[in-house]
Amino acid sequence: MSDDIQNKPLIAVVGSLNMDLVVKTDIIPEEGETVSGEELHYLAGGKGANQAVAAARMGGQTTMIGAVGSDGFGERLLHSLTESGADASQVRILDDTVTGTASIWLSKGDNRIIVIPGANGQVLPAMLEEADTVKSLTAAAAVLLQLEIPLPAVTRAAQLAAEGSALVVLNPAPAVPGLPQELLRCVDVVTPNRSELAVLTGRDELRPEDVDAAVAELAASLGAAVVTTLGPEGAVYAAAPGGRVQAGRAGACRAPGYAVSAVDTTGAGDCFNGALAVALARGETLDAAVGFAMGAAALSVTKLGAQSGMPFASEVQAFLA
Ligand code: ADP
Repeated sequence: MSDDIQNKPLIAVVGSLNMDLVVKTDIIPEEGETVSGEELHYLAGGKGANQAVAAARMGGQTTMIGAVGSDGFGERLLHSLTESGADASQVRILDDTVTGTASIWLSKGDNRIIVIPGANGQVLPAMLEEADTVKSLTAAAAVLLQLEIPLPAVTRAAQLAAEGSALVVLNPAPAVPGLPQELLRCVDVVTPNRSELAVLTGRDELRPEDVDAAVAELAASLGAAVVTTLGPEGAVYAAAPGGRVQAGRAGACRAPGYAVSAVDTTGAGDCFNGALAVALARGETLDAAVGFAMGAAALSVTKLGAQSGMPFASEVQAFLA
């Protein structure tokens, strides 16, 4: 592998693109109540596109695969990807539907979100069989997947990626119970947050003190590395014996978060995933990759907007130095 390719690993992201309609408000309305908010922002988002922007800004040569409607929101989303250096030529523009949207209520740094999938709901396995997409998936060093597009497409993307030599990173968000074995057996790294970890391990809820054991248990049962993000508290991770991604020691490890002043946590997990995939694709250990991803995600929460708030690799390196 040439130095150039090692420094800019090929990353493919298959997933959603949404226009985020962000309402900033001091008060969240109760049922039947009307309140006055402070600001409305239109910001590029969607877990897939957010992770693609993060991976591109972290230095990955990144291709986004997904779909938008033929409308103004779609155009703005494609522009946001290319502006960050991601290749958007494999985002299909569909005439018979709208671009996905996420209505986000942002209050005191926390968020509540309603997603309307639109074009994201029409990303089906057949779309992934087109020659350029098969090539992107099989040639990638890492393929990043989430669950905001139909599950059959996520599964097919993982299978195509596994036919090549890509590391398959699955961010199982939003949580879907009973993920198919055909998907799980292709995955090298799974990155649930705490509530998604509860769903993946078949629990109704997960107490903070049980997270480490659940991470280690899931890693062993999947034969894949598991990284669970815990907001400001950082992350817990474990590698599986014999898995492609290894850590410095066996069992669950804790990486404490960085103390920053949070402005907008939307997309923190996406930033984490994009950075993690690039670091792993460069051949870093799980320990180093989690540390890098946590620095990136901490910086991302200090700015408004999912994609617009993503830092660049140089900023993360300076922050961690
Ligand atoms: P998700 O948005 O998927 O639930 P998390 O909230 O767990 O993801 O955040 C992902 C990562 O972002 C965390 O592991 C941490 O590194 C970073 N992060 C999130 N919120 C904060 C915060 N308030 N302060 C510092 N880092 C944060």
